Amino acid sequence: MRKKLFKSESKRLLDLMINSIYTNKEIFLREIISNASDAIDKLHYISLTDENARSKRSEGEINITFDKDARTLTVSDNGLGMTADELEDNLGTIAKSGSLKFKEEMDKKDRDENDIIGQFGVGFYSAFMVADELTVISRSYKEDTAYIWKSEGASGYTIEETEKDTVGTDVIMHLKADTDTENYSEYLSEYRLKNLIKTYSDYIRYPIKMPVEKRREVGEGEEKTYETYTEIETVNSMVPIWQRAKKDVKDEECFKFYKDRFHDFTDPVSVVRINADGLVSYKAMLFIPAKAPFDYFTKEYKKGLALYSNGVMIMESCEDLLPEHFRFVKGIVDTNDLSLNISREMLQQNHELKTIATNIEKKIGAELKRLLEKDTEKYLTFWSAFGLQLKYGIVSDYGLHKESLQDLLLFYSAKEEKLITLKS
Ligand code: ADP
Repeated sequence: MRKKLFKSESKRLLDLMINSIYTNKEIFLREIISNASDAIDKLHYISLTDENARSKRSEGEINITFDKDARTLTVSDNGLGMTADELEDNLGTIAKSGSLKFKEEMDKKDRDENDIIGQFGVGFYSAFMVADELTVISRSYKEDTAYIWKSEGASGYTIEETEKDTVGTDVIMHLKADTDTENYSEYLSEYRLKNLIKTYSDYIRYPIKMPVEKRREVGEGEEKTYETYTEIETVNSMVPIWQRAKKDVKDEECFKFYKDRFHDFTDPVSVVRINADGLVSYKAMLFIPAKAPFDYFTKEYKKGLALYSNGVMIMESCEDLLPEHFRFVKGIVDTNDLSLNISREMLQQNHELKTIATNIEKKIGAELKRLLEKDTEKYLTFWSAFGLQLKYGIVSDYGLHKESLQDLLLFYSAKEEKLITLKS
């Protein structure tokens, strides 16, 4: 079996992870769980239109197991799985935006890894911060053969055929030996793992199951003793954050969710929550970022909001939910009023969707106005990132949006030596 080498751009990231002195290594679990959840989402999405995928799909769940003696921690999902080629493409290179952006940031001189690792979704390779060997066993919904991908890090990886009964992926992390300063064994403790899942992955929509040790009474009278037994328990609360009542969720929690979900490393300036119960009922959680993403002013940038129906994602990025002049807004819309297997073309014509879009546009406008009046500092942060977009919004569409946008514009006043509104 031939060992394959990582592509050179991934090698750098890999070395960084392997030798990381990052203090918050625990985030690896969040990254691996988030991949598992994405994989389940994807299979669900594909099965809306693909008969074969539909037949392979079961109730999505993520299972966490650990073995103290073998020093392994395993995260299993029943998502879409990967073929041999996909294992090679996805795990042998860092093609994905999150990791790639991270690497670019790291390449800039004098960056401190502690500054940035936590702020980025560093993805799959982050497991190398705690593990000295990674094994991925995966079976794609597309075929019956399963494959095993193995790597001890820098030296490369191997891919071989193997057996696996069900579609999905197991990520097996062999933990590094403890050192004077690092206690990797803690990731083999039920208490610690539960805690990590609660902290970072509570809102994951699929049950994250784990064997939990319990005690029960046995025998009677004099003979009465306790015995321990294990039970599989769902650790996360699963309620998506945007479904939870506004009063129960702090802004900071929403910000954390935003950074995680939308791969940003800066808190947004604001979160807008909508719970509409009228003609169309839906929930939305919208974010106004503080910084423009690196590709914002390029064709690569895709505007849109993630669209969910009954808590199931039906579209990663629904363009029609946002007007062009608010294309910087990120977020999620969840409505029960859409059918799950509605096609993109049908969506464009969809009346409910249009109502939602109009409503969202108003809410964003109102929130920007509120910031401008009540929280000038935040508005200025927003303005320096996206002011140009609003100015462009005024002239685009033959001035159609002039009325709604003009009060949001700022201009530099030479007399007052600061940015002021048209009115002032
Ligand atoms: P990102 O999550 O930012 O795309 P990662 O490095 O975490 O980057 O993962 C790279 C790719 O590997 C993912 O985009 C996905 O295609 C694939 N992948 C990772 N984990 C899984 C999994 N559990 N099931 C299916 N595919 C996966």
